[in-house]
Parts: sequence; structure tokens; C-alpha cells
Amino acid sequence: MTPILEAHDVKKHFRTGGGLFQKKGLIKAVDGVSLSITPGETFAIVGESGCGKSTLARILMRLLDPTSGEVVFDGKQVTKATGTALSDLRCDMQFIFQDPFSSLNPRMTVGKLVGEPLEVHAPNLSKAQRQAKVADLLSQVGLRPEHAGRYAHEFSGGQRQRIGIARALASGPRLIIGDEPVSALDVSVQAQVVNLLGDLGRDLGLTLVLIAHDLAVIRHMSDRVAVMYLGKIVEQGTTDELFENPRHPYTRALLDAIPDLDDKDGASRARIEGEMPSPLAPPPGCAFHTRCPHATDLCRTKVPPPVTTSDGHMTACHHWQDIPIIPRKTTPRNQSSATQARLEIYRKATEGAQIIPVASKTTDREETK
Ligand code: SF4
Repeated sequence: MTPILEAHDVKKHFRTGGGLFQKKGLIKAVDGVSLSITPGETFAIVGESGCGKSTLARILMRLLDPTSGEVVFDGKQVTKATGTALSDLRCDMQFIFQDPFSSLNPRMTVGKLVGEPLEVHAPNLSKAQRQAKVADLLSQVGLRPEHAGRYAHEFSGGQRQRIGIARALASGPRLIIGDEPVSALDVSVQAQVVNLLGDLGRDLGLTLVLIAHDLAVIRHMSDRVAVMYLGKIVEQGTTDELFENPRHPYTRALLDAIPDLDDKDGASRARIEGEMPSPLAPPPGCAFHTRCPHATDLCRTKVPPPVTTSDGHMTACHHWQDIPIIPRKTTPRNQSSATQARLEIYRKATEGAQIIPVASKTTDREETK
């Protein structure tokens, strides 16, 4: 199938320092990323904080210009688009931010927030037609048309994210990029917003690119996953393949870092030691070698090339074929008790059953009523 979105060797480097007390430096936030996303799929990009996934999302959306490389949407250059071409691309590609509150203008009513993209992308609509369209968009995301007259601060976190989604849908996009779209929400509300995104993706034929660190969200929603470490993609494959047969030591460590209540001594887990190195001074060779239990002299000197097998599973590790998979004692490695609990919440939210939160970050009760 022809890809809808491609990235070719995209790099984003930031210069830092150079002042009186700071040495000059170069942060390679994104360092040679290539992706190919097909229409209608949900593609997740995962990694620790600081790995460059949010920077990459902004480059894909042209909220940031890359240092080099190119992004192509539906055969059109995103990186070089200007004027009308860029405006048309903004119609087709929309972004959902992590914090729905700070991304919504507090002085605008919900009707204005959702209707604003229509003024730009559908200027021929009459006021009545625009109001009808806003009411329709609010219904699509589970809000009521009368909410159009209220302000964002009057809503709960989950409802504000729904407003953000309605605003993103207003221009009739074909692709939506969500940067941690549910991570600021209560777990039970996350389930509803995750399922809303999944339903909209299916019903409207949208392509979703999801930046996330919650592996349960990724497992539940995505068709394919890319794992990033220090600005590079180290593994990429279908969600089932990556969760059931992770090849890269970093992916294994990420999956094994999910707390497993049944694995009391944690003996079956691949441990990830230490902090991610500073992107100002990335290690030579494989950037993961300072934390990898399988590192050899080769890893310390030579960057591992990406190797893609016939099933489309890509791994950038010198030794992935030699590293034995350590079976977990009690549960499959990707299905810890914590992940199973989250997946059960998402499943129940899909069925409309009563949701009992397993953890709470905010009090967002209105969503579950
Ligand atoms: Fe570990 Fe070497 Fe593979 Fe890097 S290339 S992940 S250091 S085994």
C-alpha cells in the first residue's frame, strides 16, 4: 500500500551554550529517523522521556523544521511546503497536545475553539452552517451541542481533551498526531479517550500517529510500534510481534520494566541499569551500550545498522540473533498484572461497562458519570 506519511533520514540538532559560563554543544534530538506509515493504521512511537519522540512528532507535523531529511505526506513535501500548500497540509494533518488545558485559549468559548479551524479551512460556510458543524463535532466526541457556549475551564480534563479532539477533527484531517494525548488524565478517563480515538480512527478512516510511554495504551491501540532511544529508532514492528518477540535489549527492558505483581523477586526481568546518557555527549557505537548487559567491544565502537527481516520487523542491534529470550516465570513478558489491569479497563470502557479506576492522578469523576 502507498504510504500516507514518510520520513526519510530526518535529523534535528539543537545548538546549545556558547555563553560566558557554558560550553558550546550540539544536541542530536532526532538523529536519522526513517518511517513509513500506511493509510488507516495506528502507529505508535515509544521511548523514555528525552528520547526525541515529541521532537519527531513536531517535525512530522511541520511544527518544527528538521536540520536535514524530508517528510512526505501523501506524495507532497511537508518539509518544504509554504503558503497555500502548507495550509492544505494543515487541513489534512492535525495535532493533539498532551495538556488539553494549555492548548485551548481560555478566552474563547468551546464553540469558537472548535469553529476556528472551520473559518480557515471552510471559509464559505455560513454562520448557521458553522454552528451546525460545531454541534456535530461536539456530538462526535461525546459532548453536547449546548457545551458550545461554555469555556474550557468549566470542563474536566477528559472533556477538555475531547474539545481538543473536536478541534482537530474540524478541518477534516486524514492524519492525526497525538503527543501523549491521555497521559495527563485519570486512568479511567484515559480509557474513554483512548477508545474514542480508536473509534474515530476506524469510523473516519483516520491514520493515527501516537506518541506514548504507556505500553498498555500502545498495546491496546496500535497496529505498529517504533521504539526510540537517544534520537534513533532501535526497533520497529507490528504491535503483536514487538510485544511477543522483542529483539532489541532496550525494548525488552522497557517491556520488563512494567511492574508485575506476580513476579515477586523480579528474577525473570531484563534489568535496565543507569540513566539515559546526555544527548549532548551520546556514547560512541551503539548509544545503548552504556546500559546494555550484552554490550561487546563491537557495540562500543560501531553503530549497529538497522536490519529488517522479511516480516518487516526492524532491529538495530549487533547481537539480536544471539541474545536469548528469558521467559517470565508466571505471565507472558508483555502481559504483567499491571498491563492486564489497564487492558481490562480499556476493554470495559469499549463495552460501556462500569469502570473502576486502578489508580488516580486527578479527580476527574465527571467523565465516569
Ligand atoms: Fe546491546 Fe550491543 Fe545490541 Fe547495542 S548493539 S543493544 S550494546 S547488544
